[in-house]
Amino acid sequence: MKQAESTKVDWVKKGLSQGFSSGSSLLNDPALNKGTAFSESERDALGLRGLLPPRIHTMEEQVARVMENLARKPNDLEKYIFLISLQDRNKTLFYRVLLNNIEQLMPLVYTPTVGQACLEYGHIFRRPRGIFISARDKGRVADVLRNWPFKDIQIIVVTDGERILGLGDLGANGMGIPVGKLALYTACAGIHPTSSLPVTIDVGTDNEELLKDAFYIGLKQNRVRGEAYDELIEEFVTAVQEVFPHALIQFEDFANSNAFRLLDKYRNRACAFNDDIQGTASVTLAGLMSALRITGADLKDQRFLFVGAGEAGLGAGDLLTSALTTQGLSTEEARKRAWFFDSKGLIVKGRKDLRGHKLLYAHDFDCMTDLAAIVATLKPTGIIGVSGKPGLFDRQILETMAANNERPIIFSLSNPTSKTECTAEEAYKGTQGRAIFASGSPFGPVTTGGRTFSPAQGNNVYIFPGVGLGAIASGARHITDEMFLTAARTLAQNVSQADLDEGRIYPPLPKIREVSLSIATAVAELAREGGLATKEIEGDTGRYIETLMYDPTYHYDC
Ligand code: NAD
Repeated sequence: MKQAESTKVDWVKKGLSQGFSSGSSLLNDPALNKGTAFSESERDALGLRGLLPPRIHTMEEQVARVMENLARKPNDLEKYIFLISLQDRNKTLFYRVLLNNIEQLMPLVYTPTVGQACLEYGHIFRRPRGIFISARDKGRVADVLRNWPFKDIQIIVVTDGERILGLGDLGANGMGIPVGKLALYTACAGIHPTSSLPVTIDVGTDNEELLKDAFYIGLKQNRVRGEAYDELIEEFVTAVQEVFPHALIQFEDFANSNAFRLLDKYRNRACAFNDDIQGTASVTLAGLMSALRITGADLKDQRFLFVGAGEAGLGAGDLLTSALTTQGLSTEEARKRAWFFDSKGLIVKGRKDLRGHKLLYAHDFDCMTDLAAIVATLKPTGIIGVSGKPGLFDRQILETMAANNERPIIFSLSNPTSKTECTAEEAYKGTQGRAIFASGSPFGPVTTGGRTFSPAQGNNVYIFPGVGLGAIASGARHITDEMFLTAARTLAQNVSQADLDEGRIYPPLPKIREVSLSIATAVAELAREGGLATKEIEGDTGRYIETLMYDPTYHYDC
């Protein structure tokens, strides 16, 4: 992956020497531009003299300038726009800035700000990003993919925009999500920026507000569904395999009704996974494993109530089941540790409206619809919010959890912040500071009862970059559930006692590259052991993978 950059620099030199390009076109190429950091000799060799102010800045000075400019922006959306334009101008600098300030900038590049950016995508639109495949492209999807300027694509994040975070159907505006996720792949796992491709499949939107919005960027029509939709997705997957045969496909923010179906259909036909189902499951399970290191209890003695029975909740239930079966429980016994509550109430056998996956967790119990009463009756050891409905964990529920558990586990994983089931402050205050808390979007430290807590962010950014990197490094034919189980265990092992003492059940974000590398190593080894690897890694797997990780620094070739 590192090779790609120097090959491209050679290409630029060759192109310039043959008169195909000019210094100014180099400044306009975000993959090669170094701005004021071009050296004297580069300025001479590449026809840049005079096109830049004479003073040469180091990358550190450029980073400091970006951070100073960022601080001047009046709100998070403006900061997002500023960072995206930097990415459009100078990718190396963008990733250096992001990597050096990951804790501060991730909430801008990803949730919660990316949610706001998607809501207003048409209004803040500057330059196109990624590839848009619309329902009108049926029959020519491979040609559309061939328009992408980079050919060695290793990873594609694709959405159809129907369930963007907890914000619902945002149609083509959903492009902010693949763009953001791939930025995190590069920052957190060192996937080279030219090896990744964000894709939005625009089949229309059923969001009336967007359909009426003059600046909406997508097709102004209701969603194509049924056979025509399935045919377009099928054409897309087939076209990816033809045009980018080494690419892993990550399905992202598809609606529940399509997410499970598409995962089942493609998981064994392509190298593909669904991050909302499998990535979230893995980060949730890792958080539970860490939480149990604090309580000293066993996973099989827990009773978890998932509030929300969609992609995130059911995916987590399934992975929890897998983890419990490795501890000797039967699948049926394992499923009894997971209870689900959805928009219609507790999921129990007596419900007539249950379909598909939910049936697996329909226990023999009374039909109940009041969440507070359910928490009081079931006495769960942990409640996990994945409903996208804000405020569901109210004071009464938090107090009941605290009354029934010395250290209640409270995960409020819905994104963005506006959708969280409870804030960090509510969780700690409602449980006299005894909650083991994690949230999907970040919260700052909370002081209560004379103690300060640093809430952990239970976000799948801890999982997908490492899984993707491991799959790419090993050339995995498929991504398995076992890989996500391994990723969860590896992530939990990366949590130190010092983290736990501060109430953090995930490692600090600045350690994310180390975490991703250890997950990638475990995943690549699993791929090899399972006969799924197509690339042979000689020597130490971790050391080899580390050499693949893109480091955003400038290369000086002349
Ligand atoms: P989904 O649409 O598949 O499922 C939502 C579920 O919530 C459904 O079962 C629905 O019935 C239930 N629900 C809706 N209203 C409810 C209510 N009032 N009471 C109880 N249940 C209710 O969505 P999903 O993909 O499962 O995502 C759900 C949320 O989880 C979103 O906000 C998403 O942003 C978040 N999420 C977070 C992460 C993370 O890394 N933290 C990852 C994935 C998803």
